[in-house]
Amino acid sequence: MNVQEAINKLNELELQEFAYGHAMGILSYDDETTAPRGSRIPRGKTMGVLSELSYKLSTGDEAMRLLDQLKEHADELSEEDRRRVELRDKRTREMKAIPVEEYVAYSELINESSNVWREAKNRSDYKMFEPYLGKIIETQKRFAGLVRPDMDPYDYCLDQYEEGLTQEKCEEFFKTLREHIVPLLERVRSAPPIDTSFLSTPFPISDQRELSRKLMEIMNLPKDNCVIGEVEHPFTTGFSKYDVRITTHYYEDAFLSSMYSVIHEGGHALYDLHSDDRFCFTSLEGGISMGVHESQSRFYENIIGRSREFVGLIYPELIRLCPKLAAHSVDQLWRAANVAEPSLIRTEADELTYPLHIMVRYEMEKAMIKGDVNTADLPGMWNGLYKEYLGIDVPDDKNGILQDSHWSGGGIGYFPSYALGSAYGAQLLAKMREDFDVREAVRSNQLIKVNNWLEDKIWKYGSLYKPAELMEKAFGGPFDPKYYTDYLERKYTEVYGL
Ligand code: ZN
Repeated sequence: MNVQEAINKLNELELQEFAYGHAMGILSYDDETTAPRGSRIPRGKTMGVLSELSYKLSTGDEAMRLLDQLKEHADELSEEDRRRVELRDKRTREMKAIPVEEYVAYSELINESSNVWREAKNRSDYKMFEPYLGKIIETQKRFAGLVRPDMDPYDYCLDQYEEGLTQEKCEEFFKTLREHIVPLLERVRSAPPIDTSFLSTPFPISDQRELSRKLMEIMNLPKDNCVIGEVEHPFTTGFSKYDVRITTHYYEDAFLSSMYSVIHEGGHALYDLHSDDRFCFTSLEGGISMGVHESQSRFYENIIGRSREFVGLIYPELIRLCPKLAAHSVDQLWRAANVAEPSLIRTEADELTYPLHIMVRYEMEKAMIKGDVNTADLPGMWNGLYKEYLGIDVPDDKNGILQDSHWSGGGIGYFPSYALGSAYGAQLLAKMREDFDVREAVRSNQLIKVNNWLEDKIWKYGSLYKPAELMEKAFGGPFDPKYYTDYLERKYTEVYGL
């Protein structure tokens, strides 16, 4: 087999892998959105069969021989094909290092633990979830040792979500954030409070659905390739650049909740919808990492969506759909949408206090993986950190350690990418402003300019570059969290008139 024939084989293999992933993804999406409760059993069976077939396809003798051959001829491959081989090598090494029966047992554990977590959260009963969390931590540590014995286990966890991210980088990044956010938050708290009472004005759900459609139009999300579903906890799932699903949750007395979740998920969707055509059905299609993904969604949600210009742009539509809101000005609404206040729940936190919620989780995960804390002591540690970082008392585990689904699904190491993504976004804004007037583009409903810029710098590359490499190319230099702290400083000075 010559190199061209090997590449043809690789294309075939990746198309088959795509097909399995696509089918399983549709099943999961269906599960989250419209499937009846009783459909769990057959779906579980189908998922089991498909995931075994897909595992065998990716790690079988034929795929391994092909990978070896391509690695031998790496210097004859194009940049893109070399990257595909590199990604494949990393992934199969991980899959091969974990014995298949342990992998299956872990999938079952995750499945069960997600269900138990939901129940435990409802009852606010950490004890119920504790043994599962304990097993998940042990398994993660074991997998880290099997796959990367040369690496610190928590660094391995971080690397799963943001390739190249380490504790050393996190420590430095979080230290910079703390030094700026803590004093800024103190200044904000001593300023006169902002009125947010009108944000609970009843806004009928059918009208909020119309607002979602309008938001998708403003963001230039193509109707033929992106639809919106309704779920408990909003997420986005991208199958290919032709098929991306976003979701939201409507609350009649909190219209901003759904509005900003649509903008956030829309940011994820735009990224997945704009990979270069030549990456279709290959491992290079779609976003590279959680950090870069969050940089796009949080850029849209906060930097664009919570700007005065964007609030002004959507205001006429808001008062058309909910006339009572007309009693409040654009300026009042913009301030209310940017109130900063320590709170209990991460997903409802404002832009300024959000990174503090992430730091709590980072400290917890580090201690869990290092084995510095018993599972029984985790709620106490959580509550202590909330007091220390945010100055608030956690009343119960439902509003504390049980609030997020990540750990129950095995997602240890995921959280820091949210904070990193926010910081990436601020540096992208600074760079974008060198090329055009971003405020004016938003004010005049020309978000297409923002999209074109992001497509050119980030989206079109799919997974071609490692996250840090991609961001450095876009920034035209190294990542610097100062752009983020400056951005927060400027924004909150303006919002609160400090
Ligand atoms: Zn997100």
